[in-house]
Order: sequence, then C-alpha cells, then structure tokens
Amino acid sequence: MTGSHGEADLDRRLADAVERLGHGLRSLSQRSARSHGLSPLQQQAVLALSRQPEARCEVNALAAEFDVTTPTMSDAVGALERKNLLTRSPRPDGRRRRLVLTERGEEVARELAAWDEQLVSSFAKLPAGDRATTLHTLLQVISDLQRHGAVNAARMCTTCRFFRPDQHADPSAPHHCDLLRTPLPLADLRTDCPEHQPAA
Ligand code: SF4
Repeated sequence: MTGSHGEADLDRRLADAVERLGHGLRSLSQRSARSHGLSPLQQQAVLALSRQPEARCEVNALAAEFDVTTPTMSDAVGALERKNLLTRSPRPDGRRRRLVLTERGEEVARELAAWDEQLVSSFAKLPAGDRATTLHTLLQVISDLQRHGAVNAARMCTTCRFFRPDQHADPSAPHHCDLLRTPLPLADLRTDCPEHQPAA
C-alpha cells in the first residue's frame, strides 16, 4: 500500500478504470458481432482464425485462448459452420479437425477487423511515449494476472520464455528477446507473436 491517501486508492481507481474499459469493449464487440448475425464468441473465433490460422485451427486451442470450455467453443464453431463461415477438415491422424475459414468467412473477418477501431483511435491521440509506456504497463499487469491464473496465456512478450527483462540501460528499450537477439523497444513489445513460447 502506498503513502498518501491519494496514492493509497490509486490502485483501486486504476482497477475501476480498466473495468469500465472492459464494459465499453464488451459493448463494442456485441454491437459489431450482432451486425453480422454472430455472437461475440463467434466473432472472436472468426478473427482469431483469420490471424495466424495454424496456431488456432482447433477447437481446443480456441477454447483455451478465449477462456471457455471446449463444448462452448464447439457450439460456436458448429454455428459458424452452419453459417458457411468455416469448414472442418480431418487431419492425418483422423481424430482432430482443422478449422479453416471459407471464402465468405475471410470476407466477414475483414469486415469485423475494425470492431475496436474507436479504442485504437483513442490510443492514437496519445503522445508516442505515453502509448509505449501504456503498452508496457498493460503487458506487465496481464502477465501478473496470468501467473495467478486469472487470465489465460496470451502470445505476449512478457509471458514468453525468450523474454529477458531489464537487460539494457536504454529506458525506451530495456528488455531483450533471446530468440530475435535484439533489444525490445517498449513500443515494439508484441501482443500476438508467432514465435512466442510460454515461459516455464
Ligand atoms: S519471441 Fe516474440 S513474444 Fe517472445 S520475447 Fe521475442 S518478440 Fe517477444
């Protein structure tokens, strides 16, 4: 707990602000999904499959990513299949099914991609330094929540086994990526890295 009264409830107000942001994002997501006849979870699945499809092409992977049970995600995938937005094709082992967006599914993913444009625009109004610091702070908070089991794994630098914090004197690029063998500027920290591997 911090010293002065103002600082003492700063953490509470930060949590309140993030909660309010969450409400706003849920509302934006529902509006966007509804306009395409989808549920928010179906929208998330379509968008996930359009980005790095190989990492997310199974029901189990999508369920883990969006923190829902496999049957819930299976229902969402079934609904998308009936809407002709994705197909399931057998893998060589004959058991698991690979999820692939149809041509119409890819088209819908492109239309849905800007669902959070209002939030992106709001961030864009901030000074570059503030944006980099905000990204860094949010990734640290998410990483801490993940360590405590409150959020699921995300492919972010701060949860990656190649991430080496505080290796460099430059305050704008203090961390290091062992895989890319390069300092990581705060503004370049990744939130969905294809090379990510979970830290132990
Ligand atoms: S591999 Fe990707 S996620 Fe991992 S530290 Fe490097 S840039 Fe970040």
